[in-house]
Amino acid sequence: AMVTRYAPSPTGFMHIGGIFVSLINKRLAVQSKGAFYLRLEDTDVKRAIPGALDTIVDAMARYGLDPDEGVLRGPDGSFIQQGPYAPYVQTERAAIYRDYAIELIRRGLAYPCFCTVEELDAIRVEQTALKAKTGYHGRWAKWRDASLASVEEALGRGLPFVMRLRAPDDPSGRIEWKDGVKGTISMPVNDVDHVLLKSDGIPTYHFAHAVDDHLMRTTHVIRGDEWMSSMPFHLQLFRYLGFKPPSYAHVPPIQKLDRVEEKDAETGETKTTDSRRKLSKRHDPEANVDYYFEAGVPEAGTIEYLLNIANSAFEDWRRGSPQKPYTDFPLKLNKLAAGGALSDLVKLSNVSQGVIARMNAEEVYGNGLRWAKRFDPELAALMEQHPDYTRRALHIERPGAKNKRIVTWPDLRPQLGYFYDELYDALATAGNFDFPEAIPAAERPVLLQQLLDTYDPAAGKDAWFDRIREVSNQHGYAGDMKLHKANPAAYKGHVGDVSQLLRVALCGTKNTPDLHEVMAVMGIDRVRTRLSRFLT
Ligand code: GLU
Repeated sequence: AMVTRYAPSPTGFMHIGGIFVSLINKRLAVQSKGAFYLRLEDTDVKRAIPGALDTIVDAMARYGLDPDEGVLRGPDGSFIQQGPYAPYVQTERAAIYRDYAIELIRRGLAYPCFCTVEELDAIRVEQTALKAKTGYHGRWAKWRDASLASVEEALGRGLPFVMRLRAPDDPSGRIEWKDGVKGTISMPVNDVDHVLLKSDGIPTYHFAHAVDDHLMRTTHVIRGDEWMSSMPFHLQLFRYLGFKPPSYAHVPPIQKLDRVEEKDAETGETKTTDSRRKLSKRHDPEANVDYYFEAGVPEAGTIEYLLNIANSAFEDWRRGSPQKPYTDFPLKLNKLAAGGALSDLVKLSNVSQGVIARMNAEEVYGNGLRWAKRFDPELAALMEQHPDYTRRALHIERPGAKNKRIVTWPDLRPQLGYFYDELYDALATAGNFDFPEAIPAAERPVLLQQLLDTYDPAAGKDAWFDRIREVSNQHGYAGDMKLHKANPAAYKGHVGDVSQLLRVALCGTKNTPDLHEVMAVMGIDRVRTRLSRFLT
């Protein structure tokens, strides 16, 4: 059983990469019947933003990534901390970290450092000038071997201090670990005396994560690969603390392909070069998780999209198991794209479309309504006023992968809206119905009247289409497409024009599902009322 966690800092911004990392952590915990918890890493107090926790918890809930333990919403909507290792908020755990720091000092593995900000700046300037590695190490680490007397003197003067790790005396040697995503990695050992506790007694992320991942019995730390470079320090911390380190897996960020077209100065040829870069919060709207909700991608669509770009096996699996929930897909860490997932908005649309096509009417109703309440309140109100009628309309050609008219939720309005008289009337009053050109305006009432007269709601689809064919033939439109193709000059148009006339008159659009089913859902009274506008 794997115990995993998502450990965000409260920055007030939910990056899609955060959902991605939570998804991996959650799936692996669920698949192994382990546990997944949410820990808030708020030790960078200056950066904390009010409401940031809401952003994180709500996004995780929306995407079905609720943790088993940690910071959760209680029944009344306020935050609670649930689980045997509470508190799960790092600033509430200061006493725990302090105890471990004291233990390290006692064992000679950590020491107080009274350097001022100015002194540290001067060190950095000097190191940069010498092209030396920056940081508190070597001859610059002047408090490392300070005498007890000078420490006591500084304490006596009330000088602020931080607590630093005492890196091993021998800076040579390497550290090796087997990364769950990247394979075996080897790096030089850490030789910098990093800060464990800041002057206010609050730990750094590094120290806090080691203590917490141990105490909260994490088996697998799966996180962004920006932490790779800290691994020598992190593994050192586990060793100093006497803890068995968890397994680590570093996930590359979601990237974006930048295509640059350049004209070669010599040959005059245009060549395109693709370069990858990290999806950026500043430049790419799709870096923000809100983007996906606003765009009307169903939550399961966003998740399947992430699985798709992360693991090429997902697409095949989905094709082979069209009706299974994505949670049945066996996610494997070592199968994640090692170079990183690539953001692909075309793929996002396709996946969204596939996910909606697989939904039944009830699911389309529920998910679509949730979106519409935020982004198309007028449509949402109509959906809620006419729930059964709406479900019947959405049921047409459903369930089944054939219905692909709705790509994302904004398509609900053009695909569903005309069923509501309010929206249909507005369309009809505006008067720009796109009737088929083959049929002269004067003939529309005649055709529509005859179609209405012969429409029998009880008759089946085939019988109804036969009737449309007959009416077409009578009025000089080929009832048979083959005949029409063979001799187009002999006809004004064909049966498709006639059914299109009826479709546009009833719906205000040419893009609808099966006309017979649409009419059955609308009901004869509504059909009559709508057509009456166009009869003389
Ligand atoms: N607080 C760190 C972050 O937000 C967490 C890294 C980790 O998962 O250990 O990036």
